[in-house]
Formats: sequence, C-alpha cells, structure tokens
Amino acid sequence: MTTTSFTEFCDELGPWKVMHLWDPSVELRAILVVDNVACGPSIGGVRMAPDVDVSEVFRLARAMTMKNAAAGLPHGGGKAGIVADPHTADREVLVRAFARGIRDIVEYIPGPDMGTDERCMGWVLDEIGRAAGLPRVLGGIPLDELGATGFGLAECAEVAAPFADLELRGARVAVEGFGNVGRHAAAFLEERGCRLVAASDSTGAIHAPDGIDVAALASAKRETRSVTGYTSAQRIDPKDLFVVPCEILIPAARPDCIHEVNARSIEAKLILQGANIPATAAAETLLHERGVVSVPDFIANAGGVMCAAFEYRGGTEANAFEAITDKIRRNTEEVLRRSREEGLEPRRAALDLARERVIEAGSYRASGG
Ligand code: NAD
Repeated sequence: MTTTSFTEFCDELGPWKVMHLWDPSVELRAILVVDNVACGPSIGGVRMAPDVDVSEVFRLARAMTMKNAAAGLPHGGGKAGIVADPHTADREVLVRAFARGIRDIVEYIPGPDMGTDERCMGWVLDEIGRAAGLPRVLGGIPLDELGATGFGLAECAEVAAPFADLELRGARVAVEGFGNVGRHAAAFLEERGCRLVAASDSTGAIHAPDGIDVAALASAKRETRSVTGYTSAQRIDPKDLFVVPCEILIPAARPDCIHEVNARSIEAKLILQGANIPATAAAETLLHERGVVSVPDFIANAGGVMCAAFEYRGGTEANAFEAITDKIRRNTEEVLRRSREEGLEPRRAALDLARERVIEAGSYRASGG
C-alpha cells in the first residue's frame, strides 16, 4: 500500500491500530486493523483469503465500527485478515499462530468471517483466552448454524419492502454466495413467501425462473460442494446472477461485486447487503439514482455480530435473536426514512446515524476515542 492510499483511510474515527504479522516459521502473513474503540473493545471477524489485503481489512474494520455502533453494542470495530487459502491443510497452524500474534492487542476480540468458522475460534480461545462466535460446547451461540445474519436480513427485508414498493410474498430473490449468510437468508425469506430464483458460489451459478427449493439446494451443495449440484436449474455465468429478473438481490460473498457496470443493469428493486462492502460507492450512487433501495451492509447484516457480542457477554440465544429483530428493524426503518425524507443515499443516512453514536461515545473517553 502506498503512503497516499494509507492516509486516505485516516479520519477522525481511526484507524486506531494497524498491524502486519509475519511469522516465517509457519509462513503466516496477516493483517489486523483496530479501527475505533470509543464504544468499547473492538469486535470483528478474521477473514482467511489468498487475496485479502490491508485496504480490504481497513474497510471491513470501519464497517464493523459502524455496524457495532448502529446496533448499540458496547464494542468498537476491528477486523483481521490471514493471507491464505482457507482450504489449506495448515489452517489450524496458521490460525493458532495468528492468535499468538495478536495476544497483546486486547482491544480486539476475534470472531469468524469468510474462510474461518467456530472451530477456528475454538483454537483462538485456546491460545489467547478470548474469542467470540465459539462452538456451542465452549459456551458459544453457533451463529452460522442458527443463521443469525440471514435471519436479520429477512427482518430487514420486511421493513425495507414497502420503501421499495414491494410485497415480500411472491418476490423473486437472487443470492450471490450461497454460504452461511446467503443460504439462511434464502431460507428465512422463503418462509416469508419469497421465491429463490438464482444462487451462486465460488464454483458457479444457477438460475430457475420458476423457483429453487432452498433446502434441496442446500443439500445438493453439501453433497457436491457446489450450487451447480442442484440439477433442476440452468447454469449461468456467475456475472449474470446480478442481472437476472428478480425483486430482491442479496450479495453475500465478496467485496465490490456490485460496481458501476452491473449496477446499471440490476433489475432488483431492493438490495439487502448480506456481505460486507459488497458495492462500490459509485455503484451505490447509481442505484440510488435509479430508485433501487439498497440497505447498507452494516445495517442489514448485523445479526452475526450481535449474536457474537451477546455470547461474549454471557447472553442467551433467545436474547440475541430478540435483539436482532428489534435493532435491525428499527435501524432499517430509521435509515430508509431519513434517506427518503432528506433525499440521501441510504449509506449516507446510515453513516450519519452510526457516526453520531461513535462520536458521542468518544466524548466520554479521556483520549476522545
Ligand atoms: P461463507 O464462507 O459461509 O460463504 C461464502 C459463500 O460465498 C460460499 O458459498 C462461497 O463459495 C461463495 N463465494 C466465494 N467467492 C465467491 C464469488 N466470487 N462469487 C460467488 N460466490 C462466492 O461466508 P459467510 O459467513 O456466508 O460470509 C459471506 C459474506 O457475509 C462475507 O462478506 C462476510 O464478511 C459477510 N458477513 C458474514 C456474517 C456471518 O454471520 N457469517 C455476518 C455479517 C457479514
């Protein structure tokens, strides 16, 4: 990263600490960004991907600052990236080495993210005594097994639908990234009368205008490790998933998958940002101008971190789900109402709301944040 690009990230909120870890004994390269701790110790996932870089980790850490503040959690925002293929045979060795490397950064509580899971957090806990998103046997609330984020996205959809002049019953849904977030979001929306018509993963994409049975797709993916294992649908180019005819689009995998080019052709009226930072700023502006309602990541996908934070503080699964319903519905309503009344892009309205909370929390700290 160049100096100029680094300073582009610096503002009155952070980043508070940026760390690069290199452990040649196990060939670990990792990045940690603790963005802001005004609301409390930062909490955020550990991503494992071969192409994760400082800029991605910073943007994700900032999204966590905003997400945790918007959700009213007593936590700041942080994120980590381990530069490795998550399918590596050395996963446990790398995760344990990473954990030892961040032992002293007590203002960061690691959780699972793409490429890591509850087992990884069990190893982190074993190494350094702090982690969230743990296996149930270690006192965890298994957020991915329960589908906390997908549940929150469905709650968000109920509130957002009228802002997009949409009825959930019968609405067609396309999901990019049929993983922990995407699969559960599709299932919870199916319960509310929506119809999944397209889905993708890292191996390909499928489309079935008459509908895809979510449970059957999940079981086909489990067996074949690919959405294309579901044979009652047509294979499509993964790029085309974004532009299939549908009412609701859920990006639930990689950053910036909605960009200036495909944003012009998206047919959905409502986008629920399941993934973190799934759309470029230019794409969000374009979508807003086209009248597409796009609920920002840190409002729509807060279910997972809410579960993790409740777990970390000894709360129960029932408390966590009640809070997800309450916070995500209230925040979605407030952001979309402010957006409509003040003519702002939803992200601007959401950032204003979260920033106000972070700045107010910082006013109670001697260091200012
Ligand atoms: P996951 O690893 O369980 O699932 C990701 C899915 O995306 C997999 O099916 C994978 O094959 C697919 N994928 C990867 N690259 C792809 C590509 N280029 N095109 C299409 N599909 C691709 O991860 P997850 O936990 O579901 O997380 C997905 C996104 O949601 C990430 O951005 C993550 O940060 C965000 N998120 C997750 C949670 C959570 O509770 N798990 C909470 C908030 C945000």
